[in-house]
Amino acid sequence: MSNHFKLSIKGSDWTIRLLTGPAYNKKYGADSGAITLPGSKTIAFNKSMLHPGYIRHELLHALFEESNTESATLTPIQVEEVCASIIQNHWHNINMWTEYIIDQSYNKEV
Ligand SMILES: [Zn+2]
Repeated sequence: MSNHFKLSIKGSDWTIRLLTGPAYNKKYGADSGAITLPGSKTIAFNKSMLHPGYIRHELLHALFEESNTESATLTPIQVEEVCASIIQNHWHNINMWTEYIIDQSYNKEV
């Protein structure tokens, strides 16, 4: 079982899925507690391992994806610049979305 909701990240609709531990492990494997799937613009979390750090980690993956870098072969310094720009421009959103996702994990039955 899971619950899910949309989050608008840089104007794109992303689906956030909060799964129980067993449901997450069955679908995505037990070797991670969260995963970002750029193709389907989905971020899935094992709700039993939900942690603000993991949420921020996955949100950065989504923001990186929305930074239109996928067609370019970036050098390490360019990757660093993209990450620095994301923090510069989106740190407030990252914190706001993290709190929102945690709130949703309490508000909805799984
Ligand atoms: Zn990662």
